[in-house]
Amino acid sequence: MPQRPFRIFDRQPAGPAASNENDAGWLRYRNLKVEAVIFLLLLVTFAAMLGKSALTRQTLELSPRSTQYAGYAFADDENGGRSSVTPDPNRPMAWSCEIRAGVAYPYCGYGMLLNLGAKGRGLDFSRYQTLTLRLNWRGEADRLKVLLKTAPPAALRHRLGDQDVPLAAEVSVVPGANTIVLPLDRLALEPWWLSSHGVSRRDVTPELSDVRSIAVAISDAPPGSLAVSMDSVAVEGVQLSDEQWYLIILGVWLLMIGAFLVHRLLGMRRDFETRQRQQADEARALSDARIAAETANAAKSQFLSHMSHELRTPLNAVIGYSYWLSRGNLDPKQRTAVDAIRSSGEHLLAVITDILDLAKIEAGKLDLQPVAFDLAACLVELDQMFRLRAEEKGLAFVVEQAPEVPGQIVADPKRLRQVLINLLGNAVKFTDAGSVTLRVDRLEDGAGETARLRFTVEDTGIGIAPDQLDAIFRPFEQVGDASRHVGGTGLGLSITRQILETMGGEIRVDSTPGQGSRFVVEASVGRVETATAKLQA
Ligand code: ADP
Repeated sequence: MPQRPFRIFDRQPAGPAASNENDAGWLRYRNLKVEAVIFLLLLVTFAAMLGKSALTRQTLELSPRSTQYAGYAFADDENGGRSSVTPDPNRPMAWSCEIRAGVAYPYCGYGMLLNLGAKGRGLDFSRYQTLTLRLNWRGEADRLKVLLKTAPPAALRHRLGDQDVPLAAEVSVVPGANTIVLPLDRLALEPWWLSSHGVSRRDVTPELSDVRSIAVAISDAPPGSLAVSMDSVAVEGVQLSDEQWYLIILGVWLLMIGAFLVHRLLGMRRDFETRQRQQADEARALSDARIAAETANAAKSQFLSHMSHELRTPLNAVIGYSYWLSRGNLDPKQRTAVDAIRSSGEHLLAVITDILDLAKIEAGKLDLQPVAFDLAACLVELDQMFRLRAEEKGLAFVVEQAPEVPGQIVADPKRLRQVLINLLGNAVKFTDAGSVTLRVDRLEDGAGETARLRFTVEDTGIGIAPDQLDAIFRPFEQVGDASRHVGGTGLGLSITRQILETMGGEIRVDSTPGQGSRFVVEASVGRVETATAKLQA
C-alpha cells in the first residue's frame, strides 16, 4: 500500500478512479465521517438552542390579575372561630384579616384555585424548583404559612380517592415589601392531616404534579389585624445563563472534535503500524526470495560449468578426431559425413561456450584479466579468421586501423576478441553482397592511464528493423528471417553487451533494413607506456 500523508478530509479525488464501480470512493462510509460529525454537531447545536429556549421559559407566573385563577379567602370563623377575613374588592389578592381568640389555633388566609376546570387538572409544578412570592405585609406576625393543595400521592390514592392533600411551609416576613423564595421541596404534609389520616411522614413523599391551589395564611397567631397584598406568585425551574449554556454547547463541540481527532490519530497510528508490519514482511519476503534466487542461481551456474566441462571434453575429442579423419583418404560420402560431424561439434561447442559465459555473467563471475597485448596482431588474426569466409560469400572484407590507435594496449584480449568475433561473425553471416568493414579509431584520451577506442563493424547486409534494435541485445532473441538463425543461439549480442559493461564500455547499433548495419563499440583500454612506467616505478 503506498504511503500517503494524513488528511482530515479523506475524500477520494473525483475522476476515473472515483467513478469506478468497485471503488465508488465518494460513497464509502469512511469518507463521509467528517460530514457526519459536522452534521451531528450542527444538530446538537440546534437542539441545544431549542432546549435552551424551552428551559428559559421555565417560569410560571401566576398573576393575581389573571382570570385563569379564582381567589378565595378563608378564616377560622368557618370552624366556629371569631377571626374574619375581608378581600379588597378593588385589588385581586389583597385582603385584610382580624385574628381573634376563639379556637385553639386561630387562622385566616387567601389563596388561588388553580384547577378551575374539572378536578384533577391542577398545575404541574414537578418541573419547578422554587416558589417566589412578592407581597406587601402589614401586621404583628413575623411568619406566614404557604399552603399548597395537591392531588394525593400515588401511594395513598387508593385510600384517599381524589381528596386534596395539604402541603405547607412556614416562611419569615417583615413589615412592608417582601420577596419570599421558597424551595418547593421544603413543602411538607401538614402534621394535623398526617395524624388525622394515620399516615407517617416517612411513608409518603409529596407529589407536585397536580397542584390545585396555592394560598398564603397566618395561623396560630396572636390576636391582631393584618393586611396583605400579593403582587406576584411564580414558580421557577433551573435556569442556565446564556454564558453557561454556550459553554455547554462549546464543551460538546470540543468533546466531539476531540473524540474525532483521537479516533483519527488512533486510526493513523494503526495504519502506520500496519504499513510498517507490511513493509517488514515484504522486506523479509524479498530478502528470502533474493537468497533463494541467489542460491538457485549459484547452483545453476555450478551445474552449468560442470556440465559444460563434461560436454566440452568429449566434444573437443569429437572435433579433434574429425579433423584428423578429414586429413586421411576418404571417399566423398565419408568426407561429407566427417565434415558434418566437425561442424556440428563446433556449433555445439560454441553454444556451450556461450551458455557458460552467460551463466558466469549472471553469477557475477566474469572476471576480466587485463594484460598488455598487441592490438595490431589481434586485428591481423581477425582478418585472417574472417577474410576467407567473407570472400567465399563474395564480400569485400576490410580491416582499418587509424594511425593514432596504439599498437599495444592493456585489456582482456580474450574478451575483446570475443566481442569483435561475434560482431564480425554476425556481419558476415547476415550479409549476402557488398562488404564487411572493421575500423578501429581512437577517441580523445581518457583520464591519465587510459585511452578510449572505438571499434566499428559495418556491413551492407539485411539490416535490422528499428523496433527490433533493442530486442537483439536480449538473451535468446533472434530477429528477422528465421532461415538465417541456423547456427546461431541468440546469445552473442547479449554476452557482448554484458562483457562491455563489465569493461566500462558500451555498444550501439544503427541499421537500415535492406541496407546494412553498423555496430559501434566504445571501450577504455590501458596504455602500455603508462603500464610499463608503473611497473618500473
Ligand atoms: P546469433 O547467435 O543469432 O547471431 P546474436 O545475439 O549475436 O545471436 O544476434 C541476435 C540477432 O540479432 C541475430 O539472430 C540477428 O537476427 C540479429 N543480428 C545481429 N547482428 C546482425 C547484423 N549484422 N545484421 C542483421 N541482423 C543482425
